[in-house]
Amino acid sequence: MGGRYLYLSPIFKMHVPPRRSGHMESPERFDKLRRSLKPLAVRNGWTLIEPEAARLKFYEAAHDPMYIAGLLSELEAALDSYFIDSDTYISPGTQAALEALSWSAHHALEAAEKGELQAAFIAGRPPGHHAGVSGPGLGAPSLGACLLNTAASLALKASSRGLKVVLVDFDLNHGNGSQEIVEAFGRENLFLIDVHQDWRTTFPWTGEPGVAAGGHALNIVVPGNSGDDIILSIVDGVEALVDELEPDLVIVSAGFDFYKGDSHLTLTRTTSRFFHRIGLLVSKYPSISVLETGFSAGLERGAPAYLAGLSGSSDPIGDRETRSSENVWREFEELNKNIVEFV
Ligand SMILES: [Zn+2]
Repeated sequence: MGGRYLYLSPIFKMHVPPRRSGHMESPERFDKLRRSLKPLAVRNGWTLIEPEAARLKFYEAAHDPMYIAGLLSELEAALDSYFIDSDTYISPGTQAALEALSWSAHHALEAAEKGELQAAFIAGRPPGHHAGVSGPGLGAPSLGACLLNTAASLALKASSRGLKVVLVDFDLNHGNGSQEIVEAFGRENLFLIDVHQDWRTTFPWTGEPGVAAGGHALNIVVPGNSGDDIILSIVDGVEALVDELEPDLVIVSAGFDFYKGDSHLTLTRTTSRFFHRIGLLVSKYPSISVLETGFSAGLERGAPAYLAGLSGSSDPIGDRETRSSENVWREFEELNKNIVEFV
């Protein structure tokens, strides 16, 4: 059994939105996550790691070097926080946050390659799964608060070194950037499974259910008003698929916005049960989880349930299971009818 590493650093608070913008992707998210994860991680024998800085070259695994170079010159010149598109900002501290993410990803992957890793959780920001090869993924209207795609870069890098990789994305929003990257650079030994809320209800408006990326990705959607029963049945299907794929490494785009009431974007009634259950699934394999979004209750209650699952311990939140109506079950089955083995 390898080690468990939680990457936490105040450097991840240095990416700061423009004043008075009220942007939801804020440094306070990091404080919420640190409060909910740190004591639990220590109790479960995780090692806390303070990341150092590494150059952004790591990201060339998934992004066009010109895109990274362009972003870097903008970051180096940033004297104040400002929006680079309708949803996405940079600030003078953004480069340091990205360099800490880069270092953390590199460090965790090295441990995985040496066979010394059981689980890593990179509690960093900004998030990444909406960032595609050279900008917004799959032609989305914006980068969706993301700059560089850490999870997809990890998946590409690990698979290029011969590891069999499954990338699991359970953020509420579709990982359009990751799908675009897998489509562009995908290999036989890399498969993406993305579970997200009904693609017609929220950004980036892609992720229609079914097989994508030339057979290297699977999108599964959860209708609004779903309870735990629906999303837990999806986890059963995902688990069967992951077990069949027998990965050497699972990379996770870990978003916590599926948690009921996390923000106005969340239309489902998902509880800690889902996050704990998916943590247990991932714990069967060496894994690296990268924080995507999640804003309030998801970070405070979903994230600790997930970390407990990753640790193989019981759900510390213990929400009561929420149930879906027959109508919602029917909607779920209709939406995912092209992937019948999952419904
Ligand atoms: Zn999200």
